[in-house]
Amino acid sequence: MPSTTLFAKRVLTWFDQHGRKDLPWQHDTSAYRVWVSEIMLQQTQVKTVIPYFERFMAAFPDVQALAKAPEDEVLHLWTGLGYYARARNLHKAAKHVVSEAQGQFPDTIEGLCGLPGVGRSTAGAILSIAFGQRASILDGNVKRVLARYHAVGGWPGQAAVHQKLWDIAEQYTPTRRCADYTQAMMDLGATLCTRSAPDCERCPLGADCEAMAQGEQKAYPGKKPRKVLPVKTTFFLIVRSSDGNIWLEKRPSSGIWGGLWCFPEIDNPAAGTHQCLDLWGTEPTTVEVQPGFRHTFSHYHLDITPVVVELDSTAQAVMEASGQLWYNLRKPPQIGLAAPVASLLKKLAASGSQTTRKTEY
Ligand code: SF4
Repeated sequence: MPSTTLFAKRVLTWFDQHGRKDLPWQHDTSAYRVWVSEIMLQQTQVKTVIPYFERFMAAFPDVQALAKAPEDEVLHLWTGLGYYARARNLHKAAKHVVSEAQGQFPDTIEGLCGLPGVGRSTAGAILSIAFGQRASILDGNVKRVLARYHAVGGWPGQAAVHQKLWDIAEQYTPTRRCADYTQAMMDLGATLCTRSAPDCERCPLGADCEAMAQGEQKAYPGKKPRKVLPVKTTFFLIVRSSDGNIWLEKRPSSGIWGGLWCFPEIDNPAAGTHQCLDLWGTEPTTVEVQPGFRHTFSHYHLDITPVVVELDSTAQAVMEASGQLWYNLRKPPQIGLAAPVASLLKKLAASGSQTTRKTEY
């Protein structure tokens, strides 16, 4: 194994020639921009994040702007990026930084880890990139590089494996050029030491990488033990008014799709008619049960069947209350939408005001 200094030197030399230096968050570097980018990059690839990051910065150029934004606007700009707890935590953390620290980000691991949604690796990235401090990171990319380099077996979700990888990450972090080293390690994992096709020939660590020597690169890191996800079912009640607007309700802030706007959920298609009677005092003029589809969360599959109902014009008189709205497909409001809701709304907008067959229940 090379010394700590030699390891960092090889990685930094590679970074100088091949690393990414033109990502949007690498310009006008600040703790705020690095923090937002790091949260967006959790479980998400750089190319997906870039347009979201740019829209987010245009809307909320600093932590004060984010802190005072309505939650709906924050979730709207997150729609499609998934893992919405990240957006809610980002918003909460911005409010905290503004109200408790006059907009100044903490510059210690402990201070940063005290912010909602910030863990040790994210804190390390902010400290090294934004503050130039010696701090280590261990995101998914870095775990893969280090697990392969040292042939660390086992799934990194296990405490002992996780700790071992942190020890290695700490050991190799240099005292100088910390920001570049952090970016270099992320780039190495994302561009060379990829999950399914590591390019060992071009890797600066290839000379003494243990996984490569074994010819077992893909065996590291160990996989999460497989478990069969349970399947739940639900019906989305898609209520369309006679002028083509769609009824949405805001979900409670905790639980799945917390704080996002969604169609009401019902237990069976017939319940849709009862709900229309309750809410608008009128039965739907048509009911169409559409083909179902599966949405998978980390801990279960959700089989969703859309039930589209049409209301006649008398329903228009019913006012929206807090947490309810008629979504205008032609002029969509800026709100956060659950991913399957966003995609169904897109289809509804594309299909226009086509009428549907009536099914009796
Ligand atoms: S030599 Fe191959 S497996 Fe080892 S760190 Fe480099 S890219 Fe990854």
